[in-house]
Amino acid sequence: MEKTGVLTLIEVKKINQKRVYEFLYRQKTASKLEIANAINVSLPTVASSLNALIAQGLVSNCGVYDSTGGRKAQIFCCNALARIAIGVELLKERVQIVAVDLYGNTLDEDFLELGFENEASYYSKLGEWINQFVKALPYTDEQNLGVCISLQGLISDDGETITYSEILKCTGVSRSTYQKYIDYPVSLVHDTEAAAQAEVWYRDDITDDAVYIALNRNLGGTLILGNRSDTFKRNGLIEHITLDPDGPLCYCGKQGCAETFCSANSLKEKAGMEFPEFFKKVHGGDSRCSKLWKSYLHCLARLIDDIRMIINCDFIIGGYLLRYINQSDIDILADYVDELCVYKDYGKVGFKISKIGDKAPKLGAALRLINDFIANI
Ligand SMILES: [Zn+2]
Repeated sequence: MEKTGVLTLIEVKKINQKRVYEFLYRQKTASKLEIANAINVSLPTVASSLNALIAQGLVSNCGVYDSTGGRKAQIFCCNALARIAIGVELLKERVQIVAVDLYGNTLDEDFLELGFENEASYYSKLGEWINQFVKALPYTDEQNLGVCISLQGLISDDGETITYSEILKCTGVSRSTYQKYIDYPVSLVHDTEAAAQAEVWYRDDITDDAVYIALNRNLGGTLILGNRSDTFKRNGLIEHITLDPDGPLCYCGKQGCAETFCSANSLKEKAGMEFPEFFKKVHGGDSRCSKLWKSYLHCLARLIDDIRMIINCDFIIGGYLLRYINQSDIDILADYVDELCVYKDYGKVGFKISKIGDKAPKLGAALRLINDFIANI
């Protein structure tokens, strides 16, 4: 009985520490009294929780409030650099990496032109490059939460296996294959899921459910359920919604998937030129290129209309093509969606444009580690 009592006390202390930390993390700075009032615990409990968090290096005393008299209240803040996380995005032709602090600020980033191959030589080169990047950072191994790798593939629930990756042709490859060459704890995440997580993190205007669509070389997209609760419909595959059963063959084996009409790759193939030239022509009024672009936007509008028949919510548009498109393109897309929608009481479709574009997968991968850390503090 006595032992249970001791354990319970430790658990209560841990819960209080977590509540103090979470409040301080959200508020950025606060006094003891502000914390005590906000989370409804006593001042001595807040003081002891803060002492424990300071001892762990997670919180600092960062000054005093201006006061007209009496004792000045001390200000406490979270140490953004108490932990860092590394996010990596694997693409067919290159790898991108980023290091972020506990607030998701970018500390450093890099990329490497390295074509994906499901071969030991590739994993070895990748591991060496990641290890070098991390070792060059001015942070200790103890600060590093690990390396989360975002890739174009679905991951098993236990995080150990890539269960489907037709793009990278690495179905069945395990997390341990990566871990073998990387000196830090490795985890894997589906790129679209990571990107959606980053979109939610870096903006405060997602107040309800939303759909994220990434206009990347390969199309991607997923549901975001709930505003900032970080709940995602795992492994969303909207790119394989059929737009035309007699359409072009998709890499998944079906015909006429959204991927074959709305991916940047499909657009580039039809355009027969690089995007800077193509969009210069589109925005300059070239009739062939404008026609192709409008046809692309029509297909994207059809996909969005299909999704709206299940859930009418805001759409976050992100991905690689954002580099080239402007607000008038988004307005045309919105008009097409509204024309297609038979339920006029749905109102005008709401688009939110990504602020992080194609950096979203690597940032989201790193943020996944940060979220896990905060949740388990
Ligand atoms: Zn498909």
